[in-house]
Amino acid sequence: MKKLEERILKDGKVLLGDVLKVDSFLNHQIDVQLLSDMAEEIYNKFSDRSVTKVLTIEASGISIACTVAGCFSVPCLFAKKNKINKNLGDNLYCSQVKSFTHGTVYNVVVSKDFLASGDRVIIVDDFLANGNALRGLINIVKQAGAEVAGIAIAIEKGYQGGGDSLRKEGYTIESLAIVEEMNPDTGEIRFRD
Ligand code: 5GP
Repeated sequence: MKKLEERILKDGKVLLGDVLKVDSFLNHQIDVQLLSDMAEEIYNKFSDRSVTKVLTIEASGISIACTVAGCFSVPCLFAKKNKINKNLGDNLYCSQVKSFTHGTVYNVVVSKDFLASGDRVIIVDDFLANGNALRGLINIVKQAGAEVAGIAIAIEKGYQGGGDSLRKEGYTIESLAIVEEMNPDTGEIRFRD
């Protein structure tokens, strides 16, 4: 998506550790018009998939996932991090995710009240790197007996390989911008054609 690529080139910051910082328009301050255009683009790619739910992971995926869910007129559901408290009597699907930014492994949970067999789910996230967050969410969809109708990502870092492995496994992944190379020394970013 040209508009997103241009914005990444203008305002994105390449940090050490393969991190692209997009805090000025996506992850901290949010450009709502851009988000709305991105969601429409995602809707157009998956509008024929009979989607019943949009699923993301806390916290930075929530804004884009909510906007996408609005286009489909379906609920937006987000997996919560580290919130297992059996005393609360929650009936939960649980999965483990290795954090890209911290390297630690954490639990994500979704209430069984909100995801069930028969659901057709679009998984949405802000970034795709090694694919661990997506694999955690896919695992939760499978536990529910629901179906992954597609995966939509704002920014994929293609050279980290998570997206291409999942595509080889048969998942349909649409990324609005795919970074093929980025250099923390020069700040240069190159996108996949
Ligand atoms: P993965 O699990 O695919 O390795 O990483 C995806 C998750 O890590 C996303 O949910 C996102 O929160 C975070 N992430 C991965 N790479 C980046 C990045 O370059 N910038 C930011 N801001 N977050 C990232």
